[in-house]
Amino acid sequence: MEIGISKKELQALVREAYERFKDETGGKNADYIPYLAQIDSSLFGIAVCLPDGETITVGNCDYSFGIESVSKVMTAILVLKQYGADTLLYMIGADATGMPFNSIMAILLEKNHPSTPLVNAGAISAVSMVQPIGNSEEKWKAITENIAELCGSECKLIEELYRSESVSNHNNRAIAWLLKSYNRIYDDPTLSLDLYTRQCSLGVNARQLAVCAATIANNGVNPCTGKRVFDEAHAPRVVAMLSAVGFYEHTGDWMFTSGLPAKSGVGGGIMGVLPGGFGIAAFSPPLDESGNSVKAQKALQYIMNRIGAGVYSNRRVTVTQDVAAE
Ligand code: GLU
Repeated sequence: MEIGISKKELQALVREAYERFKDETGGKNADYIPYLAQIDSSLFGIAVCLPDGETITVGNCDYSFGIESVSKVMTAILVLKQYGADTLLYMIGADATGMPFNSIMAILLEKNHPSTPLVNAGAISAVSMVQPIGNSEEKWKAITENIAELCGSECKLIEELYRSESVSNHNNRAIAWLLKSYNRIYDDPTLSLDLYTRQCSLGVNARQLAVCAATIANNGVNPCTGKRVFDEAHAPRVVAMLSAVGFYEHTGDWMFTSGLPAKSGVGGGIMGVLPGGFGIAAFSPPLDESGNSVKAQKALQYIMNRIGAGVYSNRRVTVTQDVAAE
């Protein structure tokens, strides 16, 4: 069943969600990365990017925050572009771990692959696969150019976050070397870990995340630049990975309550993809115990439930011009 919502109605709904949750105080900034602990926890923004490239924004949508784990989606797309889906599945996997984002246990249990590029282990593996192997500078260029194409504009490194994360990433160092012992790091482990840390330290805003999500929702064509960023055959694979593990051990609960394939990051951003519909993002630093932004989750859940057209529903949403709805 097709359901229409006008741009004006969608804008009003996004504003309503913002007003409803802006004073919520639940959750706590991530503090295992010192830079993230000192970010203003009242920042809050919601952005939606439509198939015609128009973007609806409310709140702090131009504030650059740490992209963190949302970058895992972008680099998974780069690996799909460079190697194809079969190789990604064989070298990394596309399975849920049911465990926290930085779990060592998940690697020990599934030593024949790191499960998915959307948890730390698989993401470090994915970065290690980025071509050209062995060339840190060129790999970084490939990673950042791909992110810029997906987001429609460049994401700049937050130097202070990169430094902060580099001196505190002991768990990730253990992951990189454990993966090496299972032959699941495909480049130098130190180089791979450094590039992963750098990629997580890129600054992104909610508007850019909504554009990236809309590019996935639009089967690989960025609706703002009109450029094809990846082959359309990859889009359903990306959505499948988001649906399986985008919220780590709480992905099932998230999909059950929102119907929105999405990826969270400990910087407070969430990027959601409604295939054929739109890209949506929300940002607010305080997190729940699994590392997912409390306010961003509530806002996105609210919007999706009001529209009533998640991926498991037979209702397909079309955003119409306002004249048609009036
Ligand atoms: N850079 C963070 C880490 O490796 C990303 C975690 C996340 O956003 O879930 O711990």
